[in-house]
Amino acid sequence: MSQDQQPIVLFHPHIPEGGISALSRTLQTRWIGQGPQVEEFERRFSERFCRGAPAVAVSSGTSALHLAYLLAGIAEGDEVITPVFTCTATNIPLLYERAVPVFADIQPDTLNIDPASVRALITERTRAIVCVHYGGFPCDMQELHAIARERGIPVIEDAAHALGATYGGEPVGSLSEYTVFSFQAVKHLTTGDGGMLACGARQAQLAKRLRWFGIDREAKLGSRWENDIREIGYKYQMTDIAASLGLAGLNGWEDCLALRKRLLVEYHEGLRGIPGLQLVGSVADSRREHAAWTCTVLVDGRADLQRKLREAGIESDPVHFRNDKYSVFERYRGQAPNMDAVESRYLVLPLHTRMSGDDVRRVCNVVRAGW
Ligand SMILES: *Cc1c(COP(=O)(O)O)cnc(C)c1O
Repeated sequence: MSQDQQPIVLFHPHIPEGGISALSRTLQTRWIGQGPQVEEFERRFSERFCRGAPAVAVSSGTSALHLAYLLAGIAEGDEVITPVFTCTATNIPLLYERAVPVFADIQPDTLNIDPASVRALITERTRAIVCVHYGGFPCDMQELHAIARERGIPVIEDAAHALGATYGGEPVGSLSEYTVFSFQAVKHLTTGDGGMLACGARQAQLAKRLRWFGIDREAKLGSRWENDIREIGYKYQMTDIAASLGLAGLNGWEDCLALRKRLLVEYHEGLRGIPGLQLVGSVADSRREHAAWTCTVLVDGRADLQRKLREAGIESDPVHFRNDKYSVFERYRGQAPNMDAVESRYLVLPLHTRMSGDDVRRVCNVVRAGW
């Protein structure tokens, strides 16, 4: 790495303007746990991303997924069709309920779940379809909804990568029975750790009880609670500390998303036509808008390219791995020829709000020089 060049890291948390003062204000109030900031964050999030449908704030994307699975009635022995390629957070909560993850293959050009594979895996025991918008590029929702409708089962979207994505002009967060978001450190919008579950009104009432031991908090605060717990709940609520950072993030949100999208376009222009390299999720489709969480490429000689990048002070990483390679999922391994074909080839390049277009061009130049 030459002297004048700063390292380019793979991810960096986005701490919004006003975030630190918002945190400081919250820390001086009576409520630092779940309180008014959580409600305000849910309200504003719902307006922006869920077309006003309920949004329930929780402690992580993983806990939001767990709640979605519970609300969808997924129980022991139920089959759930889910992508083989995703963060383990998508699939581990299925094991909490002793459900059976049925791993669907991915599409080679988007790394999203392949509807044809989903259709082939449907059985009488299929209880739900889970999809992940890999890197922020929306899945084939029309096709997935058609399969789910035929079977009368819900679609659960893991939209941890896809805050700000749209499909058919509608925001991801307003399309399916359940949509889950993550506010983990390096996601678009962060609360340190946190998550959101967008769902129907009746489910949201239940979700609010389940995130807090099974207690109806509104009734309790209104002295209307009969001091009984009928459902086994969790300790999954969001705190006001986290929500105040989330609210600050919503203020500058549009600029943050626009920057990420510009950087991704810059990558796609800079990396097009390089022999041995393909862009992931660069499919021309007017139905969908990319949320630009990652820039992922498929390359021959991944380890060599990573070495070249490292020598130039640039981080890169595969980030996620096929879930059926982990011991806890091994018994659910099935056929996934597309996954097999890209397994050793996909690579995530740096994309975050500390980067400029010049940084992207620097990465592209290193890649273009060959590896
Ligand atoms: C980040 C992430 C999650 C949720 O993770 P948490 O760290 O629990 O918020 C879920 N699915 C995917 C695909 C993710 O990338």
